[in-house]
Amino acid sequence: MLGERTDGTMAHISEVTSGLGCNCVCPACGTRLVARKGNKQDHHFGHYGVGDGRPCQTGPETALHKFAKEVLARRLELVLPSLEAAEGPGKWVGYPGGICHFDAAYLESRLGEIVPDVIVRKAERHLLVEFLVTHACDEAKIARIGAMDMAAIEIDLSGLPRNISRPDLENAILTTAPRQWLHNPKLREAQAQREKRHRERDLVLRRAVAPLRRAYMAACAEVCSMPISCLAYNRIVGRHLAHAVGIEVPGIGCFTVSPRDWQALILADAVDIAASGGKGLITTAGALRKIRERGWLRRRFSRLTDGEAAAIRADGTPFDHPANAVAAWATTLSRLGVLLPAGAGDRWIVWQLTAGQMRGRQTSKRL
Ligand SMILES: [Zn+2]
Repeated sequence: MLGERTDGTMAHISEVTSGLGCNCVCPACGTRLVARKGNKQDHHFGHYGVGDGRPCQTGPETALHKFAKEVLARRLELVLPSLEAAEGPGKWVGYPGGICHFDAAYLESRLGEIVPDVIVRKAERHLLVEFLVTHACDEAKIARIGAMDMAAIEIDLSGLPRNISRPDLENAILTTAPRQWLHNPKLREAQAQREKRHRERDLVLRRAVAPLRRAYMAACAEVCSMPISCLAYNRIVGRHLAHAVGIEVPGIGCFTVSPRDWQALILADAVDIAASGGKGLITTAGALRKIRERGWLRRRFSRLTDGEAAAIRADGTPFDHPANAVAAWATTLSRLGVLLPAGAGDRWIVWQLTAGQMRGRQTSKRL
């Protein structure tokens, strides 16, 4: 729909006479163009002496690119996208977007290592404009623009209909076609401020969390050196499952007893039920209820928020909520072939084979 006139400017098909009298060439390959303006077909340019079935590869894209630059340079106005950083309710809006008028435009001028399609200037400020016809602005170019800290936008012309009218084409380029910021110095500033706020918040949390972390580490050391206090452990040993308890998962410091005790308490009943043919079910909720009934939870660590938990973990401290500790232990037992996952990460059953072996051992003992 576009051709290059002899003076180098771009012509829309609607502006030229039919046939070779259009006096245009292809801006990509330099071949003379024929304006085909029949009644039936969409009006279009063809390469002279070349059938329509073998069109020039890059002609239409090159022409559209050139036309877009020309329109911007002539009109010196552009609708800019809004500039905002999405961050919760206090969303930062650097620029609401809208029409912007410029003082001058420079086409294809070199700027350091890059050659933007157009640089427009308003007073002392410059804006880089890239037109996307077939290829989006690549990462390397965006990185260079970022390194220079220049404002830059990309206008996407890839979805325009082939037979678009001249007024619609100008309107799409300047106003309606999708456009986005590739870079903006204000975004960097907002980013820096956001990072500063995060660092300050982290510091406050780190200071508040230090005593909690020390207490937790002391609790871990304490429970790991504790003697066994519960009879369930003996039942577990009797069933040759000693390897299934005493597993040091993150969160063991949330309990007041050795990991062997609380893990044996949960596992022993389930294995007993499974060995007698029942469904040996373990749930995190049920397990925590049993542990709480015995007073085996440390109040200080059983009601922490996820944020506090993450802050304690930040230096690698193996902390987790009691429910997650139970789940991590049960998950380990699934890998050991003692339990089978039976729900959304919060329920398990004693593996049939484990229970079967139990029964087998009991029977052989009785014989
Ligand atoms: Zn061509």
